[in-house]
Amino acid sequence: MPPIDAESANTGVSNADVTGAAGAAVTGDANEAASATSAISPALPEPSPVSERDLRFMALAQAAAEEARAAGEVPVGAVLVRGDEVIAKGFNHPIGAHDPSAHAEMVALRAAALSLGNYRLPGCELYVTLEPCLMCAGAIMHARIARVVFGARDPKTGACGSVVDAFANPLLNHHTTVSGGVCEAECGAALKSFFAERRRASREARAAARGVTQADGQEDRGTGRTVTAVTSNAPPAATSGATTEAADTAQSAATSAAESAADFTTQPTAQPGNEPPPATSR
Ligand SMILES: [Zn+2]
Repeated sequence: MPPIDAESANTGVSNADVTGAAGAAVTGDANEAASATSAISPALPEPSPVSERDLRFMALAQAAAEEARAAGEVPVGAVLVRGDEVIAKGFNHPIGAHDPSAHAEMVALRAAALSLGNYRLPGCELYVTLEPCLMCAGAIMHARIARVVFGARDPKTGACGSVVDAFANPLLNHHTTVSGGVCEAECGAALKSFFAERRRASREARAAARGVTQADGQEDRGTGRTVTAVTSNAPPAATSGATTEAADTAQSAATSAAESAADFTTQPTAQPGNEPPPATSR
């Protein structure tokens, strides 16, 4: 998906400041929400229109996310800005880098710190297309980032209110404000399309593997030889549409995609034959 322009990004934007109080409310912990509210602000702010500036920088983060997609990685992108200057950008690539910390935010933080010659980045803002995880939230705090703006929420690892709210604890951090849901629909759609494509590729690879298995069996029957190898070890379900380990091993080229897809299709709420809920994990 090409990066969106500011005008299209404005469509369907749902913007809400994710202050500590709002984040706690998302977790459903009423006591925590009340406590955080009193500690941080007297009342939740009214959702404000997304500024043209936020849209502009989020569009750059979305463009970075497309670089991740092009590299076969989960499409998440980030840009780090100071004022109106883009200091650094990063895209998610933990698989290619063999680095679990190679999230878009971490990449942008490292590049910005190198560029500015300072491990602290006060006055800087980080735009990222997906809600930061706990690792990135910690790095954001250490870097003294002034503000984080994120797009889609991450119900699996989000640390800005979706799973935990690292920024709601005043003992941990006083410095970073968080705005979530900027271009949420667009950022979420980019992730959904990526995972949908991976599931489709996985299904096709498995179907192709089953076809190979069936063809082997037919050839063997035709020559009267004993059916061996993959077919002989496969349970009956192997030729009736179910996934088997035997079928998987017959298509090594697609193993990585299949394994990844399996991660995203085995969530508790997924039902056989139904489209699983959108996954956003890196
Ligand atoms: Zn992260």
